Amino acid sequence: MENEILIFGHKNPDTDTICSALVKQILSEKDGKNNTKAVRLGNVNKETQYVLNYLGIEAPELIERVEEGQEVILVDHNEFGQSAEGIENAKILGVIDHHRISNFETKEPLYYTARPYGCTSTILYKDFVQKGIQIERKEAVLMLSAIVSDTLLFKSPTCTEHDVKAANELAKIANINLEEYGLEMLKAGTDLDDFSEEELVNLDAKNLDSKGVKYVIAQVNTVSIEDVLKRQEKLEEAIKNEITKKGLDLFVLAITDILNSNSEIIALGNRIDIIEKSCKLENNTAFLEGVVSRKKQLIPLVEKYL
Ligand code: MG
Ligand code: MG
Ligand code: MG
Repeated sequence: MENEILIFGHKNPDTDTICSALVKQILSEKDGKNNTKAVRLGNVNKETQYVLNYLGIEAPELIERVEEGQEVILVDHNEFGQSAEGIENAKILGVIDHHRISNFETKEPLYYTARPYGCTSTILYKDFVQKGIQIERKEAVLMLSAIVSDTLLFKSPTCTEHDVKAANELAKIANINLEEYGLEMLKAGTDLDDFSEEELVNLDAKNLDSKGVKYVIAQVNTVSIEDVLKRQEKLEEAIKNEITKKGLDLFVLAITDILNSNSEIIALGNRIDIIEKSCKLENNTAFLEGVVSRKKQLIPLVEKYL
């Protein structure tokens, strides 16, 4: 298609990234713009696949990079380090995001919606409402799934009243029991058995760069931290490979217990001193009670002592 506008979320896509890209395309179409296309920058995880299967729809097309001058809309991220290869030379028409704004710059003016909500889809939900555009079952399921995922069924400290309200309204439209559906969806994402350790440390990994410190915070959801820690040795090997490959100062893998809302971290790198300022590592690990959010809890843990 001529002048096709690509919509995508971050690398190592999560449910919000995939669902919000799809929903933004639907919203654009319902708003009379027929030249947008949702795409993705990586594999769909099992939690997201559960949502796509539930709706009987295909994942967006996979792209690796964007060409110079390509028109794009970013959802669920803004940092170039988390975006498509070539993003520096693309034409960013808009951003819809709920993260800090960092390492982001454009040559031209753009639409930028930033809200400190728990989920990008909550922002999109409000767009539908504000524009008076009808929400149908498909986009309702996509948005409520994204909200459940990002807020861990409202248990994450990132969750706001806006997210709770949006999810409940959407559940009514979709005729879904939020608790039941949400737990099944989250559990689908905790099935880690057929992932290699290399895949596990990349499944939901974010590249971050602050004050000259290059680090990654990766997260896996589980119903048993113990089960994942059985693979600690191999996970550490995979983490060390990532550190070498990407020239990182620090790599933190958070293994998050979605039922009890705690995390165990494995931290490696030449700057683990940053982590050790706030928690004591034993055998490269530490148990962090009540910690589930990368954005509100894990990233601040690092940034505070940079
Ligand atoms: Mg995300
Ligand atoms: Mg998100
Ligand atoms: Mg997440």
